[in-house]
Amino acid sequence: MTAPRRISVLGATGSVGLATLDLVARAAPGTFDVVALTARTNAVELARQAIRHRASHVAIADPAAAPELREALAGHPGISIGVGEDAVCEAAAVPADWTMAAIVGAAGLRPTLEAVRQGAALAFANKECLVCAGPLFMQEAARCGATLLPVDSEHNAVFQVFNAAHRSAIRSITLTASGGPFRTWPLERMAAASRTDALTHPTWSMGAKITIDSASMMNKGLEIIEACWLFDLPPEQVEVVVHPQSIVHGLVEYADGSLLAQLGSPDMRTPIASALAWPERMEAPVERLRLDQIARLEFEAPDPVRFPAIRLARDAIRAGGIAPAVLNAANEIAVEAFLAGRIGFLDITASVEEVLALAQADADMPRALAAFEDVFAIDRRARELARDLIGGLSVETRS
Ligand code: NAD
Ligand code: MG
Repeated sequence: MTAPRRISVLGATGSVGLATLDLVARAAPGTFDVVALTARTNAVELARQAIRHRASHVAIADPAAAPELREALAGHPGISIGVGEDAVCEAAAVPADWTMAAIVGAAGLRPTLEAVRQGAALAFANKECLVCAGPLFMQEAARCGATLLPVDSEHNAVFQVFNAAHRSAIRSITLTASGGPFRTWPLERMAAASRTDALTHPTWSMGAKITIDSASMMNKGLEIIEACWLFDLPPEQVEVVVHPQSIVHGLVEYADGSLLAQLGSPDMRTPIASALAWPERMEAPVERLRLDQIARLEFEAPDPVRFPAIRLARDAIRAGGIAPAVLNAANEIAVEAFLAGRIGFLDITASVEEVLALAQADADMPRALAAFEDVFAIDRRARELARDLIGGLSVETRS
């Protein structure tokens, strides 16, 4: 019998974290050995998971949640408890064979870096990390010998049909997009969209931030940048097609005209299982595809007028340097402001575009991205610019 695979989950209480632990719970005993689990605030769920999976380490980022975590784990002295952001990084550094990076946002960068530095397998969901620190992150992964296993469904799909031996014959890759809840809405209606409208995703059930990003299609913009780094391709070779059924997740086009695709039900447990068992396969409790029942698969081009986010992301990765990190930070602040009811839906991408322009002329913005410290400084400054801008937007019209 082979030894259990030691696994850690960063962002264990989120949508991807929960799906990962669901698969782990269903696997045969002795398949996995859970090492570290981390979360930001949900102490009750984190403690429940730690007990259920006999984790050896837990870390909670928010100190306010620590008493609750300690109390919930009082009868379990074998579980070591860490509190604060540094503790999350320390948990990520506890030796593991496989780590799921599923913290949302640039906040995940430090812990994900710790995990990469183990030089083991990193299941990669936290796309914001690659958007804000792509070149540095990929260099670090190569230096440490880490294996990056894409978890984002589109990138996982491409990874499954990307034959590295035929790299020079790869013409393009395609990421599909559901189009989100506003795919067919006219601009005037989008301008008045509520938080609930934007949080109602037609095909996927996910965390709030990525659900809003899907509605604005910034998610696809971030994914273009993520794909450029994961597959070492220029943005011109990364295409996007809207596919409302979310059945085909990603495709690779070869020089001979072959277009290879991965299909599956829109359930994150398929890409997560593929990363969890890699390079083998494991069973996942997902609905099997019945193509005769689905009957039709539709594809359409994204609308650049109603969804400017894809253009903004393409321009940012082409410009390189600080631009993708500025785009990501400005978007995180705008999504937060929209969720808090402080700005309208269309203000999200409008403010990102404006922050990108402001950043170019800003005296306090670092000019280059040469080290991780630059990423943190760019991220901080772009958040300040975004907060100032949003603070000045009219809020009277918002309900
Ligand atoms: P989520 O909001 O459901 O969960 C986020 C997790 O990160 C939670 O466990 C939370 O406690 C933790 N977290 C948040 N802020 C933190 C901080 N400052 N420090 C430490 N931990 C923190 O998000 P999600 O939907 O699971 O998405 C996670 C990541 O995976 C995102 O980058 C997202 O883009 C990506 N992703 C998600 C899906 C999906 O289906 N949900 C699909 C593809 C990619
Ligand atoms: Mg995706």
